[in-house]
Amino acid sequence: MYKSSKGNIWTKIGNSYLLLNTYTGAVDIVEERIIELLKGNLTLDLVETDLQNMLIKRGYLTTLNQSEELIKLEQICNSSLNYFKRYRNFGLVITYECNLKCTYCFQRDLAEKRGVSSKTLNIPQVNLFFDLIDNITQKESCAKPLICLYGGEPLMLTPVQ
Ligand code: SF4
Repeated sequence: MYKSSKGNIWTKIGNSYLLLNTYTGAVDIVEERIIELLKGNLTLDLVETDLQNMLIKRGYLTTLNQSEELIKLEQICNSSLNYFKRYRNFGLVITYECNLKCTYCFQRDLAEKRGVSSKTLNIPQVNLFFDLIDNITQKESCAKPLICLYGGEPLMLTPVQ
């Protein structure tokens, strides 16, 4: 018997709902009737089979109780942790320039305060970065480098000199 997952949360956006499951990480835009289904105000047989399968596959509907859901979440977290343990993370801010103006952006203010908003990386800095990665990964022989490119918008980079 399927029931609404304890990890479901939702919020109204216009005429639809943003639904997410905090256990599986699934995020979807759904109609109000899906929320009614998850609240228990609608029976599953009134929903199309494809939609039922999607809700089950993405974890919004489950046969597990809350403790079983939490055990499953722990297993997912452990397997992700084991995956990331094989890597050493390196972040590189390539440029603070950006073609967008997201309202929540803190990066722009941060870069302006530090007086670096128009700065981009140059060749010696890039070489230093790769030397640093070589150095660290050789010391930690099991770790593979995982490089994250940040900004600003990393693709706004003007060619490095
Ligand atoms: S740096 Fe990121 S958050 Fe800031 S405006 Fe650009 S895309 Fe948006």
